[in-house]
Amino acid sequence: MSKNQNKTGSYSFFNCIEKNFDKAARFISIEKGLLEQIKACNSVYRMHFPVKIGKEIKVIEAYRVQHSHHKLPCKGGIRYSMKVNQDEVMTLAALMTYKCAIVDVPFGGAKGGIKIDPQTISSENIEKITRRYTSELIKKNFIGPGIDVPAPDYGTGEREMSWIFDTFLSLRSGDVDALACVTGKPVSQGGVRGRKEATGLGVFYGIRELCHVKEDMYSVGLDVGLVGKKIIIQGLGNVGYHAASFFHESGAIIIALAEREGAIYNEKGLNVSKVFLHLKNNGSILNFPEATNIENTEKALELECDILIPAALENVIHKNNANRIKAKIIGEAANGPITPEADEILDKKGVIIVPDIYLNAGGVTVSYFEWLKNLSHVRYGRMEKKFRENVNAEFLKVIETVCKKKISIEEKKMILRGPREIDLVRSGLEDTMINGFHKIRDLKKSLKIENMRTAAFVLSINKIIDSYEKLGIFP
Ligand code: GLU
Repeated sequence: MSKNQNKTGSYSFFNCIEKNFDKAARFISIEKGLLEQIKACNSVYRMHFPVKIGKEIKVIEAYRVQHSHHKLPCKGGIRYSMKVNQDEVMTLAALMTYKCAIVDVPFGGAKGGIKIDPQTISSENIEKITRRYTSELIKKNFIGPGIDVPAPDYGTGEREMSWIFDTFLSLRSGDVDALACVTGKPVSQGGVRGRKEATGLGVFYGIRELCHVKEDMYSVGLDVGLVGKKIIIQGLGNVGYHAASFFHESGAIIIALAEREGAIYNEKGLNVSKVFLHLKNNGSILNFPEATNIENTEKALELECDILIPAALENVIHKNNANRIKAKIIGEAANGPITPEADEILDKKGVIIVPDIYLNAGGVTVSYFEWLKNLSHVRYGRMEKKFRENVNAEFLKVIETVCKKKISIEEKKMILRGPREIDLVRSGLEDTMINGFHKIRDLKKSLKIENMRTAAFVLSINKIIDSYEKLGIFP
């Protein structure tokens, strides 16, 4: 057992990322010390604070980790889960650094976590904990529009982000940029349209792009295109649910959905919105009328399919189940769902793994758009929407005169439309995901890198080195 392995013989989560980093470092010729600096976590803030819950005082354990300051602010979500620990938050912060670099989002990586189970705590108490956590961050200068900007993650959402913003504003009144201290806020409180579904939509764009590359599809014995591909999604949280909806709408077949309590399966395909309604009404996906139950949720990962999307937590595909995975493509919607040992097994089997540091970067990409919106104090599209509509109307007139053809009302509506905020956000996200995919793929080919994960790390590390060089820190 190596010094990095824990008692069960598995690597710590942070060591897993270090392993992936080291594989990429073989393709980068730069002084070792500089690579060590990029790999290291710059600041780790571990805190304990008391919160009165009912008649008792509970001591809450929480974290904020800033992995890299090569670009500021730092950026990354906050998760609420009983599994939160320092190693996990450090790793997730590191992933944020690499992720931001790949999609050209000018932030350093960060992550936060509070060790609570939000499902067993009342919303009043979650609010108390969130507000207290935020004031702890303010005290230590770990939050602010130009310092560190949190966002949602596992177990948190718009509600928590609006409490964070409100607490920040109350302690920093008069800060004209206060809205930019956190992203993932509700639209009514400075959020941007399209943020909620951004990670899931980014996953969809990334996988769709891969499915259109003939060479890659033929290498795993699949046809080109997404239509008809059999997909399994594990995790129906914000990311998994939206990804499933976009895949379903595009003509792919969602054959199984897995949640904590079990999975459901239908070879002919599941109607995602119907499943979601069932989940809302019954508190579980099990016993959905148009599907068969699979009691052991892990078994769902091992079913025959074309694409497997783990969209929940880390380390769900490990050395003990990797050999039984039958998917030809795995899209990492979650952070770190595959351990390094499983990675090697799957690589040998020829599975294409689309790595987390690229595939789930849609969330932070749209967070960047939200942050820009907050700093510019103007909604996307406000300045140009009417102008574009007027220009389009002029174009239409010319077309109708030159072509001597009447254009139907429906066609006119489509052509005249100026861009709304949601259109701009989605096209920005689509462009980012398409570009990111091809940059990784091109690098993989040109340097003959063994897989997409290593290529993504090489791309990311090179970009970070670039920005350190621009700062004049590295010689
Ligand atoms: N929690 C998300 C992630 O892991 C989003 C982070 C953000 O928007 O800052 O990428």
